Order: sequence, then C-alpha cells, then structure tokens
Amino acid sequence: MKKPIRSDGLANMESLHKNLTGKILWALGLGLLFGLLLHTWIDDLENPIDRFLQSWVVEGFLQVLGKIFVLSLKMLVVPVVLVSLLVGVASLEDVRSLGRIGVRTLLFYLSTTAIAISLAIGSALVFNPGGGFEKQTDLQIEPVEAPSLTEVLINLVPANPIQSMAEGNMLQIIVFALLLGVAISLAGESGKRVFSWVSDLNVILLRWVDIVIYLAPVGVFCLVAKTFAEEGFSAIAPLAKYFFLVAGVLLVHGFLVYPSLLLVFGKLNPWCFLKKIFPVQLFAFSTASSNATIPVTLDRVQSKLGAGKTVASFTVPFGATINMDGTAIMQGVATVFIAQIYGVELGVSGCLSVVLTATLASIGTAGVPGVGLIMLTMVLQQVGLPVEAIAIVLGVDRLLDMLRTAINVTGDAAVTCIIARWEKKLDVTTYRQ
Ligand code: ASP
Repeated sequence: MKKPIRSDGLANMESLHKNLTGKILWALGLGLLFGLLLHTWIDDLENPIDRFLQSWVVEGFLQVLGKIFVLSLKMLVVPVVLVSLLVGVASLEDVRSLGRIGVRTLLFYLSTTAIAISLAIGSALVFNPGGGFEKQTDLQIEPVEAPSLTEVLINLVPANPIQSMAEGNMLQIIVFALLLGVAISLAGESGKRVFSWVSDLNVILLRWVDIVIYLAPVGVFCLVAKTFAEEGFSAIAPLAKYFFLVAGVLLVHGFLVYPSLLLVFGKLNPWCFLKKIFPVQLFAFSTASSNATIPVTLDRVQSKLGAGKTVASFTVPFGATINMDGTAIMQGVATVFIAQIYGVELGVSGCLSVVLTATLASIGTAGVPGVGLIMLTMVLQQVGLPVEAIAIVLGVDRLLDMLRTAINVTGDAAVTCIIARWEKKLDVTTYRQ
C-alpha cells in the first residue's frame, strides 16, 4: 500500500525523530572517543599507518561526511528563513504587532547578552585566571574595525535581495522577507494565492529539515571525531583555568540564567525547555555555527516547544544573527584574562566599556565558526589591550566555540519562547508535553 503523504511538516515527526537525543548523544560520545583515539595514535606522519589514518580517515572520510552534513544544513538556511518569515508575517492578524515584537525581541536579546558578559567579567575578576600566566605571543593580527551606527542602519536595507541571499546576509534577508510578507498580507486575492503557495512550500522545507535532522547522528559523529582527532585535549592543560572558567560561566548562563528568565518572564517550566532544546544544542555544538543550526532551531521551537511561526520565524534567524551570549561570555572572560596577564587594571569604566563593546560585537558576530575570536580584537582594542593577545587563547578556541555556540542557540530559543508567550503565540500544551 502506498504510504500517505504527511500533510503537516511539523507534527508527527516522531517516526523520523524517535529517540533523536539519545542517538545524537551516542554519536557525539563515540565521535569524541574515536577522535581522541586518532589524536593519540597519529603522532608520526612518516609512518604509513599514521599517514593513512590522517589522509583517509581524518581528512578523508570524516571531513567529507562532516562537511556534507554541514552543507546540507546550510543549503536550507536561506530558503527556510525566507519562506517561514514570509508565512509568519503574512499570517499576522495585525501587521502593526511586528514593531512591538521587533522592539521587545531586540531589547530582550541585548539584555541577555549584557547579563552574560557581566557574569563573565565578574567571574573572571573573582577567579583571576590570568594570575601567574606566562605569555608568549608574537602573532601579528589586524584588529576588526567596528562599523558606525549609520553604516549598520544603512546596511540593513538590501539594494539587491538576490545578492543578499547569495551572500547569506541574514539581516538584509530578514528585512526583505518582512517587507514582502507585509505586502502579501495587504495584496488581497493575489496575496492570498501567493500565501497559500508559500505556506505549502514552508511545509515542504520543514519536512526537508526533518530529513537532515534524521541524518544528524552520522554528521555529528564525523564532525566531532574530526575536531577531536585534530585538537585533542592537550591544548587545554596550559590554559585550563581560562578554559574551565569560560565553560563554567557558559553552563551557568545556559542552565541557570535562561531557565530563570523562562520562569520569571514567561511563567514557563524550564525543565520542559531544557529537555526539548538538548538536540538543538548538540547540533550547535558539533557544527559550531548558530547560522547552520537555524533550520533545526526553527523546527524544534515550533514543533516541540509550541512557539507560533509568526514569532519564531522572526526571532530565531534574528537571534542567530545578533544574539551571541555564549560568544560574549568568552569575550568577557578573555578580555579580563588578557588584562590580568598584561598587568592592566580595567577598573569600573574599563569593565563597563567591555560590557558595551562585547554586546555590540556580539551583534556584529556572524553565526559561523570562529568569528567570536576575531570580534574579540574589537573589544581588546576598545580597552587598550594588544590585539595579538588573542593568540594566547587561540589554542582552545575551537573547543570553546562548540560550547558557546550551544549556548548562543539556547538563548535564541529561550527568548523565542518568552516573546511567543507574551504575544499569546505559544501553545502551552505542546510546550509542556
Ligand atoms: N560560532 C559561533 C556561532 O555560530 C560564533 C562565535 O562565537 O564564533 O554562534
């Protein structure tokens, strides 16, 4: 008998995603072990076995499958953001509520980032990770220049939306989709026809996302194994204090601050949130890219946490672009750590300046691997620290990038739930299930 085609792209994912968290966790654990094994084994590239493992396993099999997995996620980012935002905006009963959602989301994102970085600076001042650290750095690095506010505002508007999509310029895509969505909702019968077509396309794309999620265990295994085969844990030892401090603050922010915000501002049970967001965190951890994780975050917050698409379709891509609490935490700890190494007293004004610059830098940080470290140069420069000092923390940044990306996407999802709750667009029954 022919199987019926599923009519809804969000519900009934159970068959595809049965025990998804368990499978991804297994893949992650095995990937980690296999990667560490390879890291320990491969120590002499003159040896034919080591050379084989390096070129066929690490740079061959693991790299190819891992890259294909990330690319198959990335391929979906622009279509999913564009289409779901069009549907979300065009189905708003009151288009004017867009402004309110936009302002609330922006303020919430900025506030969580400010909390994150304050927590990071406070902890670094208390635990003093830079005390007694011997610096050795001779790297030459060009600092990133902060764009002016006028530039940021002008750049929001795409001159050529096709180019914005080709370049993956998320803010421009969001602006374009918002305007087109509003126009569709105001265009009467023609608008209705286009809306029905775009809604169908949205269902199809989310189904496509389901399929990629289904393949996640293989992708996660390869990505994690390759990273650990190359990095190992050896880089952590000399920077252990810094590494564990950043990791600790990330955990506090992810598992204490967000849950408290959900409880206080959304009157939502944080446990339901943490349980359902875990697979998204694992995706973000293994890809180290909030951007590539957008399709998965969008899918999960709607299907599992009950956030309405009118809110989620905007807050998720917007958050993946401007909300980087995990990145801000790394930048806060790293700045204080470097200041301590160089014997520079930051003082109250220096710390405030770090809070402000890192909050702005996190807006400018694209949700792709490693950018947070480059944006750190902006923060260091602001407080008069040498930018080449980022070389000190470079060795452990790949591992921290994975952890902070997991926190970045958690923030996007938590704020989405809170805003959806405020806008009465959160299906509490789905959230609690
Ligand atoms: N990898 C991070 C993200 O995609 C950005 C960064 O901190 O480098 O969210």
